[in-house]
Amino acid sequence: MYDLVIIGASAAGSAAAIYAARRNLNFLVIAKDTGGEVALSGEVENWPGVIHTTGIELSKQFTNHAKAYNVKIEEGYDVLGITQADGHHVVHAKDILGKDQTYPAKTVIIATGIHPRELNAEGEAALKGRGVTYCTVCDGPLFKGKTTATVGSGNSALESALMMAGIAKKVYLLSKYAKEEKNGFPKGEDILVQKVNALANVEIMYRASTTKITGNGLVQGLTYRDDATQEEKHLAVDGVMVHIGAIPNSQFVDCVKKTPGGDIEIDLLCKTSCLGIFAAGDVTNIPYKQIAIAAGQGVVAALTAIDYINKWKE
Ligand SMILES: Cc1cc2nc3c(=O)[nH]c(=O)nc-3n(C[C@H](O)[C@H](O)[C@H](O)COP(=O)(O)OP(=O)(O)OC[C@H]3O[C@@H](n4cnc5c(N)ncnc54)[C@H](O)[C@@H]3O)c2cc1C
Repeated sequence: MYDLVIIGASAAGSAAAIYAARRNLNFLVIAKDTGGEVALSGEVENWPGVIHTTGIELSKQFTNHAKAYNVKIEEGYDVLGITQADGHHVVHAKDILGKDQTYPAKTVIIATGIHPRELNAEGEAALKGRGVTYCTVCDGPLFKGKTTATVGSGNSALESALMMAGIAKKVYLLSKYAKEEKNGFPKGEDILVQKVNALANVEIMYRASTTKITGNGLVQGLTYRDDATQEEKHLAVDGVMVHIGAIPNSQFVDCVKKTPGGDIEIDLLCKTSCLGIFAAGDVTNIPYKQIAIAAGQGVVAALTAIDYINKWKE
């Protein structure tokens, strides 16, 4: 039986792995990939000690740091469940070949992050990767000189519109809020709202609910309902950037308490409601989703797990 299984190999998972390795635990890291959302973070300028790097570079450094301690990472594995047996936990995963694998462990750290929420608009699924993207940082440069629409009303949508304004010819930004509600972006930072409003090639649609994305093989347009008038309107666009929030990757674990949105609830020591299971990073109910915070929580979770293992009675 492992002392610890860490699920996730990005900021939170790598930080936990480095601490576990330095304490000589018998442990394993299981992850779909080693980059996580860090690798999708584009330019990173708030990781302390490094003035500027990219998400891809930073995620490689996290992996290299863990590997320098000979951490075993099962990459390409999808964790599907965690069950309980005789006071310990069993992690169930599918490996790259689709084969079931099980890992019994005294403790588990869940560091699985979040994934983007989809619009569920007609045509969205068929045009995913064909003009519909959930990561402007990753795919925005493909739309140089074209017309794009960003859907969303938080910071992520505002940042997407700002980035696309420097790449595309024309950018539509569709907020579900009315202009009277804090300039249409009640959850957005004022500085970002001001910057977007100052751009000549960004047009903001307020009270706009996207109903359909159209295109024959590639995105050609977007239809939205103007909630003020109930009128359906159409925009000719080449790309649609969807930034309407995120869903925690926590569906595979039942025994922990979660918020209605699926965030795993933790205490100050990264303990969940399930004895021996800890959680760290974006998948938790900590409201700030940032790399430094995820890494810090990974450290807390590892130290708390070590304390738990030290008191383990066979
Ligand atoms: C476009 C964008 C820009 C950003 N810019 C910044 C920035 O500039 N600065 C900053 O601090 N933060 C930024 N962030 C936020 C930052 O990316 C996250 O806070 C950080 O990635 C959280 O790390 P994490 O380890 O919790 O999760 P993640 O990085 O998402 O890693 C999750 C890990 O879990 C694995 N995993 C998930 N589900 C499973 C499963 N079922 N089975 C096995 N493995 C699984 C994944 O493969 C991955 O290894 C940005 C995010 C985005 C999307």
